[in-house]
Amino acid sequence: MDNFFQHKARKRFGQNFLIDETIIERIVRAIAPRASDRLVEIGPGQGAITELLLQHCPSLTAVELDRDLVPLLQFKFREYPQFQVIEQDALKFDFGSIAAQSALRIVGNLPYNISTPLLFHLLSFKGKVQDMHFMLQKEVVDRLSATPGTKSYGRLSVMAQYHCRVQGLFPVPARSFRPAPKVESAIVRLTPHSPPSCSAKDERLLGQIVNTAFQQRRKTLRNALKPLFPELEPESVPLDMSRRPETLSVGDFVQLANTCFERNS
Ligand code: SAM
Repeated sequence: MDNFFQHKARKRFGQNFLIDETIIERIVRAIAPRASDRLVEIGPGQGAITELLLQHCPSLTAVELDRDLVPLLQFKFREYPQFQVIEQDALKFDFGSIAAQSALRIVGNLPYNISTPLLFHLLSFKGKVQDMHFMLQKEVVDRLSATPGTKSYGRLSVMAQYHCRVQGLFPVPARSFRPAPKVESAIVRLTPHSPPSCSAKDERLLGQIVNTAFQQRRKTLRNALKPLFPELEPESVPLDMSRRPETLSVGDFVQLANTCFERNS
């Protein structure tokens, strides 16, 4: 099989293939797949993680953009009738279309250049997702799991933590991949809140406020939000508007968004 297909890693697809068996086992142990799960793997590559996942759970849909890898995966896993590979851009894929009765468990050693837009795309299907385990650039994992007042805390932290419980699991050294990436990597688990821990009346407005606030993170909240709400009177908001955006918790942002929503409706 190894000689069936010699695949040269392609930079434009962010291909850094996992070659470290210990790390692959650790990832699969963290996922703890059960036979009844509905697994989805984004960017299976040459099937390094897929192979071990399938030993625990036969129902796996893989979404892979590189068309040259599709026949390799179909051949390699031909003995698993519930394995299917869809040649598609995960950024455009309708994950809802493959969610049946059981929620999806999504897995991926993601191409780092698309990880943030992909996370936001996936969050739009969160009602159909049980959990997600990703290999990401360590810096992105730090941002996802950051707490208020820290350097890494920003838009990504607030929006990810609004939708999900975020757990940074363990680092993965560059030598675990071929070719080795120039950045550090880490595994993160995202579990959509169910029910939501706090609820924004208008999630789009929450997103806009968080975006605008962190574009000017060193300003006071009042000044940072001026482009969005030029007329906003600080007294009408149940928060100290002289605070910096980076000190607000997720709950504070939701409270702010809900106040602005009520004022405008
Ligand atoms: N899972 C494999 C592993 O761990 O060895 C490969 C990981 S590699 C970092 C990223 C994989 O995502 C590659 O197979 C690449 O072709 C695929 N990929 C890149 N962009 C993609 C996209 N937009 N949608 C789906 N797959 C993509």
